[in-house]
Amino acid sequence: MDDRLFRNAMGKFATGVTVITTKVDEHIHGMTANAFMSVSLNPRLVAISISEKAKMLEKINNSKRFVVNILSNEQKNLSMHFAGQLIEGVSVEFETIDDMPVIKNALANIICNVKSAYVEGDHTVFIGEVTELKLTDGEPLAFFEGKYGKVVKD
Ligand code: FAD
Ligand code: NAD
Repeated sequence: MDDRLFRNAMGKFATGVTVITTKVDEHIHGMTANAFMSVSLNPRLVAISISEKAKMLEKINNSKRFVVNILSNEQKNLSMHFAGQLIEGVSVEFETIDDMPVIKNALANIICNVKSAYVEGDHTVFIGEVTELKLTDGEPLAFFEGKYGKVVKD
């Protein structure tokens, strides 16, 4: 099995798209991620998976906090920007919730404290305990077979 086959298989799982944000010594860092899931309701836990190659890994290991910003379908440029895929920069507007940077107009801003971290293969899975939430109306940005799309409701 080669890596492309694995990625193609994982790409069959349609996801939303998030930008993970954190702050270390007043320096804000953001990164696009689709490896996100809800883990537990009591206590309220979520999981993200961060590559060992991503600068974000050291940032979260230092800050012990992160925000999951679930993008709307009007924020594809932000997804590309925070994946380092846009040559021209976009203007990014952060707001602050509970002293953490959050992406304005995201469908959800999920503010977390790191509860635990598991190094697994070439990624670290962070379990976050949710401390604050903000929701905004809108339609989600979707990611399927390595491409962006929209969600059509029945
Ligand atoms: P960089 O590559 O340095 O930063 C990413 C981009 O964000 C750069 O363009 C940078 O200029 C910009 N940026 C950062 N902070 C700020 C700021 N404060 N203000 C303005 N711009 C800023 N990787 C994973 O590890 N896990 C995943 O779940 C994952 N899912 C992905 C899903 C999708 C749909 C895509 C497209 C990519 C995904 N990636 C994932 C890959 C990951 O997004 C990229 O490898 C990313 O470039 C890694 O970011 P970095 O932390 O190394 O920082
Ligand atoms: P792709 O075809 O590479 O991705 C399809 C699916 O494969 C993704 O949704 C993800 O589930 C999985 N995947 C891809 N790269 C992975 C990795 N390094 N580790 C674990 N799972 C991975 O889609 P694409 O449009 O070519 O992706 C753009 C870039 O973003 C690529 O460099 C890709 O590696 C990266 N990416 C990384 C992750 C991740 O690290 N978890 C997730 C998605 C995309």
